[in-house]
Amino acid sequence: MTIMEPYRIKVVEPIPLTTREDRERSLSRAGYNAFNLRADEVTIDLMSDSGTGAVSTAQEAAASMGDESYAGARSFYRFHGVLSELTGFPHIFPAHQGRAAERILFGALLEPGQITLSNTHFDTTRANVELLRCEARDLPCPEAADLDSQAPFKGNIDLRALEQTLTGPEGDRVGFVIMTITNNGGAGQPVSMANIEAAAAICRRSGVPFLLDAARFAENAWLVTQREPGYADVSPTEVAKRAFRLADGCVASLKKDGIAPMGAFLAMHDPEVASRCELILTATEGFRTYGGLAGHELDRLAQGLREVLEPDYLRSRAAAAAHLARLANEAGVDVVQPPGIHALYLNAGRLLPHIPPGRFPGHALACQLYLEGGIRCVELGSLYLGTLDDDYELVTPAPYELVRLALPRRVYTQSHYEYVAETLAAIAKRPESVPGYRMVETTPILRHFNSRMEPVPM
Ligand SMILES: *Cc1c(COP(=O)(O)O)cnc(C)c1O
Repeated sequence: MTIMEPYRIKVVEPIPLTTREDRERSLSRAGYNAFNLRADEVTIDLMSDSGTGAVSTAQEAAASMGDESYAGARSFYRFHGVLSELTGFPHIFPAHQGRAAERILFGALLEPGQITLSNTHFDTTRANVELLRCEARDLPCPEAADLDSQAPFKGNIDLRALEQTLTGPEGDRVGFVIMTITNNGGAGQPVSMANIEAAAAICRRSGVPFLLDAARFAENAWLVTQREPGYADVSPTEVAKRAFRLADGCVASLKKDGIAPMGAFLAMHDPEVASRCELILTATEGFRTYGGLAGHELDRLAQGLREVLEPDYLRSRAAAAAHLARLANEAGVDVVQPPGIHALYLNAGRLLPHIPPGRFPGHALACQLYLEGGIRCVELGSLYLGTLDDDYELVTPAPYELVRLALPRRVYTQSHYEYVAETLAAIAKRPESVPGYRMVETTPILRHFNSRMEPVPM
């Protein structure tokens, strides 16, 4: 039987339907950079799953109960109650988004010159480590390098490398280990409970704090129940609870698995770390019972955190991602395997072999998806990760030329995804007609947000 969405549509928002001429004009005006497009120029927006989910009637009802008292609001206690039961941490603080939670917790934990280790640091996580003049080092597991294999937990950390670093000459410089679940920087692949347990044990032996970056804790828990031996009969809630209880602290953007436009939290066991965090929080985000969020936002999150763990919701979301992955493969576009949940990663380098890395095949595919179908997405390849010289020519390419189709929660239906697959199929029929791109203008940091590009016929 079809695995259908376990909800029906009650409020709708029209999506813009544009012509090829409209899209050519828009993309050219945008400097061939999807970040410069206006939302009303986009038909299907797969740029990000962050803050883009659809809220439920129960979330809006909860939000209407929002208590906007400055301190000790009822909304905070409802938010805190849900997270306290889920995570078991005694100290829990709201923050307005994930990067603020990172800045606060890392600021309380790190000294300049220290190293942090991760399966893969998300880009803001890395930036917050580097802003504290520390070094962020990724230790992805070896299976992650094979994009086509069906290994179930390619998001894992490399346990041997972790142990070697912690017991080696640099061991006493390691400030903390942070495990990203699911591994957003690593093609959205999940992390197994066995890997979290082993990494936590290694950290404990070395006396190094073990943290979770838990933006997609529910999606990771779902994939554990589907892929890890011994978890088939464990609920996603129970898996998530066990994962949080292995950590000394965590940060999480709730724009993902909080299914709300804004929000985050940080949490920890150590009371001294908590009081340092509380000082920074009060100075830069807000008092400990609101942390930069309104009461109605705290209530919307408290309800979203319950809904995100419902097995019927997670099953249908995973099925939608797998369905789109299958359709893309049938159309001749390879997707990083096995497909995760929050995004699909298209292998643009393989689809467009006539475009060398220096002409950005991932960016070329992303632009083509917009021109052909009004679909917005971003590349994760040499434009984002490569190094360029002063003339904006590529010096070191990224290891892979990928395009990420992020899947907003509860927003698009099966026919939207079929439309995406048909657009991909049209491109895959004549890939050689897709041009490469040259960079004409950019900024020294956060290049992908700010660059202007132009097409180069191949
Ligand atoms: C989104 C994200 C962050 C940052 O959160 P924001 O709410 O966007 O600031 C950190 N880590 C991971 C894994 C994320 O996906």
